[in-house]
Amino acid sequence: MEQIFFDNASTTRMKQETLDAMMPYFIEKYANPSSIHSMAKEPRAAVDNARATISKILNAEPNEIYFTSGGTESDNWALISGARMNSKKGKHVIISSIEHHAIIETAEYLEKEGFEITRLKVDKDGLVDPGELRSAIRPDTTLISVMMANNEIGTIEPIAEIGKIAKEDGILFHTDAVQAVGHIPIDVREMNIDLLSASGHKFGGPKGVGFLFMRKGIKLPPFIHGGAQENGKRAGTTNVPSIVGMGKALEISASNMKRNTEYLIKLRDHYIKRVEKEIPFSKLNGHRTKRLPGNANFSFKFVEGESLLMLLNMNGICVSTGSACASGSLDPSHVLLGIGLPHEIAHGSVRVTLSEENTMEEIDHAVDVLKSSLERLRSMSPLYEDYLKNNE
Ligand SMILES: *Cc1c(COP(=O)(O)O)cnc(C)c1O
Repeated sequence: MEQIFFDNASTTRMKQETLDAMMPYFIEKYANPSSIHSMAKEPRAAVDNARATISKILNAEPNEIYFTSGGTESDNWALISGARMNSKKGKHVIISSIEHHAIIETAEYLEKEGFEITRLKVDKDGLVDPGELRSAIRPDTTLISVMMANNEIGTIEPIAEIGKIAKEDGILFHTDAVQAVGHIPIDVREMNIDLLSASGHKFGGPKGVGFLFMRKGIKLPPFIHGGAQENGKRAGTTNVPSIVGMGKALEISASNMKRNTEYLIKLRDHYIKRVEKEIPFSKLNGHRTKRLPGNANFSFKFVEGESLLMLLNMNGICVSTGSACASGSLDPSHVLLGIGLPHEIAHGSVRVTLSEENTMEEIDHAVDVLKSSLERLRSMSPLYEDYLKNNE
């Protein structure tokens, strides 16, 4: 059966072109770029080239890009080293309540180390209020971390406004931009970003590689120890093929961004329109316009997201639910609870995340399957039956 991949927020497919760019660095130009001999020259140049490409796209400078093993490592590094760096000045850190687990759980770790964490509430659309951020700032606040775009509901946060506030108060500002890089325009200077996390596999690059942008002048202590790579900031033998692939993938994403965005919004809005029109008791989660072009997250009353996911899966449609994905827990996601959904509604949520490889036919097919699956599940739901009885 043809599979339909509507789970592009969890990872993306690499393009053949990207794999082709990586291949020479496995078996031909395999030397360690840190070596002194001549065979190191080409891999070193390839890494420099990727760094230059990536920095240019973000309006950063090449020496402000530090390669890591992915978004999770970049988030850990920024949060832990960022908090420790200024701990003499203060031990108060502000994050939003809807961050990715890589930030949420790292903040919990910092709490155990004696830091105090404020988790900013978001509104019903998932937006952080810059005014509330301002009033949460204290004399001992040293770090603010707010994600650029949410991985579950797709809401895009007012990062430039938050960056401005952080700058005025001389507070370090980190943003987890893993869902944003390669998908929406980013200018680290204009947005006053000090630290930014990104991950290759979320924009068509390979898995297990990412980077941290660190503004010049910020002396974040190293997080991984053991060698002089990445300007002495991140030890470990340079992952040349992956870095080359990530650079290529971002180059492709950035040059197609305008066209992809228009196309994705067309697909996304068609999905949203059809669901809202044809499926009763459905609710769009996240901001209607300030949202990632490829994200549509809906809650469906009277059903379990897991059952719905299974029925869609049986029809070859791959989506995600609003339950905590990797943790294996059955608690609804902190993001859906964070935007004020009651538990039972949050449980019936399905996230569709598109790529430019998806088609309108796939969307229409998915809505048809979704519709019949929901009818089937609801016809078996005692809650739905009760509801109908009480509203006759
Ligand atoms: C995927 C993701 C991460 C983790 O990135 P990895 O490279 O998979 O470790 C962090 N933050 C957000 C918002 C993500 O979507």
